[in-house]
Amino acid sequence: MPPLQRGHEGTLREGNILTTKRWVLVFGILALICIGLILFFWFSPKGRTVTVSQDGETLYAIDLSQVQEPYTLTVEWDGGYNRIQITSETVWVVEADCGNQDCVHHGPLAENGTPIVCLPLHLVIQWSVP
Ligand SMILES: [Zn+2]
Repeated sequence: MPPLQRGHEGTLREGNILTTKRWVLVFGILALICIGLILFFWFSPKGRTVTVSQDGETLYAIDLSQVQEPYTLTVEWDGGYNRIQITSETVWVVEADCGNQDCVHHGPLAENGTPIVCLPLHLVIQWSVP
């Protein structure tokens, strides 16, 4: 530490710098806490619920953290069907008899990814908004 400057002006300047440093420190710590909280909630495994809806109506709301064994769901629409694989990690459409197979090609529902949509069978699979 360099010796503090003597005299009225010097002390004043030194004091201002110290106050500024303190505020920078306080805001720095607050910013770190905020980033920490955001990361914590971002990667938090709880509240991972997937909704399976058909024609705008929710058929299933599945809390993946409660899934012990992977299983499949079959959802039918107007003679067609989607077979959906449910695991504790994610969900995906295993097979469907829709024309374009977009839902099958979408693959697993990614974290913060796009919903799985099957337009011909009016099916939407997405993370539920908490
Ligand atoms: Zn499809």
